Amino acid sequence: MPEWRKDPVTGDWVVIAAERGRRPFECRTGPEERRQRSCALCAGREGETPPEVLAFRYPGSGPDGPGWWVRVVPNKFPAVCAEGELECRACGPYEVMDGVGAHEVIVESTDHEEELAHQSQRQVEEVLWAWRARLLDLRRDPRLRYIQIFKNKGSVAGASLEHTHSQLIAISFVPARIAREMEGARVRFQLFGTCVFCDVLEYELRERDRLVCVGDHVVAFAPFASRFPYEVWVVGREHRPDFADLGEPQIRDLARVLRRVLAGLVEVACDPPYNMVLHTAPVNAGDVSFYHWHLELLPRLTVIAGFELGTGYYINHTAPEVAARLLRERTAEVQAIV
Ligand SMILES: [Zn+2]
Ligand SMILES: [Zn+2]
Ligand SMILES: [Zn+2]
Repeated sequence: MPEWRKDPVTGDWVVIAAERGRRPFECRTGPEERRQRSCALCAGREGETPPEVLAFRYPGSGPDGPGWWVRVVPNKFPAVCAEGELECRACGPYEVMDGVGAHEVIVESTDHEEELAHQSQRQVEEVLWAWRARLLDLRRDPRLRYIQIFKNKGSVAGASLEHTHSQLIAISFVPARIAREMEGARVRFQLFGTCVFCDVLEYELRERDRLVCVGDHVVAFAPFASRFPYEVWVVGREHRPDFADLGEPQIRDLARVLRRVLAGLVEVACDPPYNMVLHTAPVNAGDVSFYHWHLELLPRLTVIAGFELGTGYYINHTAPEVAARLLRERTAEVQAIV
């Protein structure tokens, strides 16, 4: 069973999930090295995954067979598992707890070769609806506090499968990164009565030099303190803590902006590996009204090296204003084509 262990000095948690060490690696380093033509996530091979927890299907098709366009299955090599105790246990000077939660794979296409950036508007919308559906379903488990949806694209970014997919890991406590964002938002709200994300968005829309793509409901911009070259955040224009509260107009606009940003990134940075993380309000965790959902797109053009590991701070060699200008230009061209 996976086990959370707390660093007795920093208080940071690490999940020891030895099961994951057994997973096969299919990913090559770049698109030119793609050798696989098909995998267990492809249509027609549904029997090779654990039984699906959600699938958007054509009428008449049955579970765990063909006839779907987005499919969600438990991860075969999970970092957390459904069973276990929630309590922390002392172990000498240390604290440990069971890795309770859910680890799922959201298969974003039936097609092995089709990356998210190249999928249709409709298909990207459907992936976002699947994210939302899983966020709503998993929160019914009162043991869970945070559901992290993320995407790793390319082996450098941690993907072990080529087939386009995102993942979610639901855990029994609010992770430190989210807790820090929540605390920053809470303090700002108490001091000024405003949301830090709404304030930032208002400023960026006025200043314009870090904007990448502006939609009716979401805005993509290069954050002022970008950690990575071409880092982009996509933030909702309406103040909403919870991604699961998005409706059809917001999902449609988010898909539209995300496709443009991803296509722009492919052009500007030569189809880089990237991580994408959805930050949304914790679940079953009291008042979250001051938080504001957002999507962080983190291209992996640089490696996390000694300084970053030593200090927790990042050296970014591309100013966000430059990144935004290049992405904006490409995004405008993409906009003109589609
Ligand atoms: Zn495949
Ligand atoms: Zn806000
Ligand atoms: Zn965030």
